[in-house]
Amino acid sequence: MTLVALAASAVLLVLQAQSQSNPAFGIHDKSRPQPAAVTPGMPSTQARVGSAPSDAVVLFDGGSLSAWRTGNGDAAWKVVDGEIEVTPGSGSLTTREGFGDCQLHVEWMVPKGLKPAGQAGANSGIFLMDLYEVQILQSAGNTTYADGTAGSLYGQHPPLVNPCRPQGEWNAFDILFTAPRFKEDGSLQSPGYCTVIFNGVVVQNHAEIFGRTAHAAPASYAPHAAKLPISIQDHGDALRFRNIWVRPLGN
Ligand code: MG
Repeated sequence: MTLVALAASAVLLVLQAQSQSNPAFGIHDKSRPQPAAVTPGMPSTQARVGSAPSDAVVLFDGGSLSAWRTGNGDAAWKVVDGEIEVTPGSGSLTTREGFGDCQLHVEWMVPKGLKPAGQAGANSGIFLMDLYEVQILQSAGNTTYADGTAGSLYGQHPPLVNPCRPQGEWNAFDILFTAPRFKEDGSLQSPGYCTVIFNGVVVQNHAEIFGRTAHAAPASYAPHAAKLPISIQDHGDALRFRNIWVRPLGN
């Protein structure tokens, strides 16, 4: 083989190299499916409610609570002025649909009339798969244990920083969640992971979830379905929520 031919075959080899993310395609393979076009949503401001990307499952846009239930019945929480208000003591608000890996956007606000005192008075939470809590708490002007602060993976990982806005102002969570996987025998194949962007600031960076959220106890896993509902905690405090949407990722 001449040097030129050798060089040409080396180039061909490079051209035909398999994609490391999907060996069914080559690197720069023109036959690989195009990413779907998505119309981005509009970010919220304090005064204006934003909108979801075009491919999101809208869980609440200011209208009805039809995507949600409480227990086995209809949602027991109220819509007030286009916002969801917790009905204290009624139980969690739970999606009717189940989700695994996902991107979740949710905005929350502690009204000025509430009286935060540590974990009391201004507490809620996002329970991914109804099991793994990203803590919601009025954490500006209110101190508690670090791993129970807003943006914590409750009892497991404190937030990296505390970007909570003052009481009465809206906060936004953008959560990237990887669900845990279980083997056929029920043992853990891979843990869950969670990234949380809180008011535009990363507070959890692919943090490993150690198991089901527990209070004052070590977390552990028990096997469960690949998709489960998302729920919002009723901790007895009348917080407000708006602009909630989710994008299932890869499953
Ligand atoms: Mg909570």
